[in-house]
Amino acid sequence: MIYTSTRDNSVKVISANAIIQGISKDGGLFVPREIPRFSADEIKAAADMDYTALADAVFAKFLTDFTPEEISKCTLSAYSAANFPAKTVGLHELSEGVNVLELWHGPTCAFKDMALQILPHFLSASMKKINLNKKIIILVATSGDTGKAALEGFKDVKGTEIMVFYPENGVSPMQKAQMVTQEGGNVRVCALRGNFDDCQNGVKAIFTDGTIRRNLAENSMMFSSANSINWGRLAPQIVYYIYAYSRLLAAGKIAQGDEVNIAVPTGNFGNILAAYYAKKMGLPVKKMICASNINNVLTDFINTGVYDRNREFFTTSSPSMDILISSNLERLLYHFSGNSDEAVRDWFGQLQDSGRYEVGADIKAQLQSEFYAGCCNEADTAATVRGLFEKNSYLCDTHTAVAVKVYNDYCGETGDKTPVIIASTANPYKFGKDVLAAIGGKCNTDEYETVECLNKKSGMEIPKPLLNLGNKEILHKDVINTKGMREYVVRAIDN
Ligand SMILES: *Cc1c(COP(=O)(O)O)cnc(C)c1O
Repeated sequence: MIYTSTRDNSVKVISANAIIQGISKDGGLFVPREIPRFSADEIKAAADMDYTALADAVFAKFLTDFTPEEISKCTLSAYSAANFPAKTVGLHELSEGVNVLELWHGPTCAFKDMALQILPHFLSASMKKINLNKKIIILVATSGDTGKAALEGFKDVKGTEIMVFYPENGVSPMQKAQMVTQEGGNVRVCALRGNFDDCQNGVKAIFTDGTIRRNLAENSMMFSSANSINWGRLAPQIVYYIYAYSRLLAAGKIAQGDEVNIAVPTGNFGNILAAYYAKKMGLPVKKMICASNINNVLTDFINTGVYDRNREFFTTSSPSMDILISSNLERLLYHFSGNSDEAVRDWFGQLQDSGRYEVGADIKAQLQSEFYAGCCNEADTAATVRGLFEKNSYLCDTHTAVAVKVYNDYCGETGDKTPVIIASTANPYKFGKDVLAAIGGKCNTDEYETVECLNKKSGMEIPKPLLNLGNKEILHKDVINTKGMREYVVRAIDN
C-alpha cells in the first residue's frame, strides 16, 4: 500500500513514513492510493472476532509494510483492559434500529482515545521499521479532547516529546482540568489567547517552517503530528464502524449485506471520514449523516457546494466541534475529484487566501449522494439530552446529542427507516455542566461538584479518570498570544 499527498501526486511513501511525517511537506494530507476492500466474507467473519482481532485484520490492509506481529503488538497494547477496563466500545440500542456507538470507554472518556492510544505505538514501530533514530516532537492543536487523549497516549513514551496548544476559553472546565494536571516528563501544555482555528493554523505554520525544520534536523529531532490529519489516527477509526456493524450482524439485528446509516457529530471531519473509508472498503452504508452545531460551515458546504469560513465563530456546549476549518475534508475532496492534486491545491489555496472556495456540480452531487448534513442549535442540543434522559433513560453528552437531533431531522425529512449507528463521542461527565443543566439539575458550584450533582441526578457511574481530578496539582500554567507560538516552540526545542 502506497500513500500519496492530496496536494502532490508524485509523493509516494509507505505507511510508516506517512505516520511519522504526519503531514506531507507540500502541506497536503497522506491518502492511500487505492482503498482496499474488506469483503462480505470478511465482514461476516468479523462477527466472531473481538475488537483487537478485527483491528488487526483492518490494519493489515492499510499498513502493508508492518508484519502481522508488529500490528498485533500495537493493538494489544492500545486496546488492553488497562486502558479500556469495561469494554473497548459499547453499542446501546436506544430504540428499534437506533444504535448508539459509545466510543468513550478509554482513559480520557472521549472517542479520541480510540486512535490516540494506538498512534504512539504505530509511531514507535514505524521509527524502528525505517531505522530512524530521532527524537519526535509531537505538536498538537486541540479543541479539548485531542489534547488530553494525545497527552495520555504519549506521556513518557521514549523518544518523544509532546506539546499541546488549546484555546484559553474554548474548552470545557473538565477538559482544561484534565490537561493542566497532566503528568509525564515529556509533556508541555499551553493555553492560547485565540480560538481552535488559531491553534491549528499556528501548528500548521510551525510544522512547515523551513528554518525550524532544519534546526530540528541538525539536532536529530523531527516534528510529527497527533492531530486527526495523521493517517495513523484515521485508520483506527475505520475499525469501530466495521465492528459495530458486525455486532449488529451477530445479534441478528441486521442480515448480511443490509445497509445501515451512520450519524456522526462532526468537527474536523476525521470521524465521519473514517465511516466513508469503511463504506469504500465494502461496508454496506447508505447515508452518512454529518451533524454540526451552530458552527455549521460543513452543513452549508454539503448543501450548497460553497465552503466559506468567513462567518461568526461561536463557542458552544459542544466545544470539540467549534471549528471553522475541517482539515480532513481535504481527503474526501481528493477522492471525489478522482485524485486530483491540482483541484485540491486550487481549493485549499483559495481557502488560505480568501477563506472560501466553491466546488463544481459533480463534486456537489457526490457530496449530497453520500452525505446528509444538518446542524443543531444550543437549545435543541439541551432538549435532546433531556429527551433521551427522560424518554429513553439514556444519558448522553452534548456532542452526541447534536448527532441524535440531526439524525431525527433526517428521519423526519426522508422517512428513512434504515438502521442507524450514531457515534457517541464523549462520556456525559466530560461535559457535565451542560448535561446537568439540560436535565434540569441545579448546581452553581465548580466542575467537581458538578460531577457529584450529575451522579446524584442521573445515577450514572462516574468514570474513574474523572474522579479526584479536583485534588490533582495544576502543573501547566502557560498562556500565550497566537503570535507567540513560534517562539514558544523554538524555545521549548532549545531546552
Ligand atoms: C473531536 C471530537 C468530535 C469531532 O470529531 P472529528 O473527527 O473532529 O469530526 C466530536 N465529539 C467529541 C467529543 C470530540 O472530542
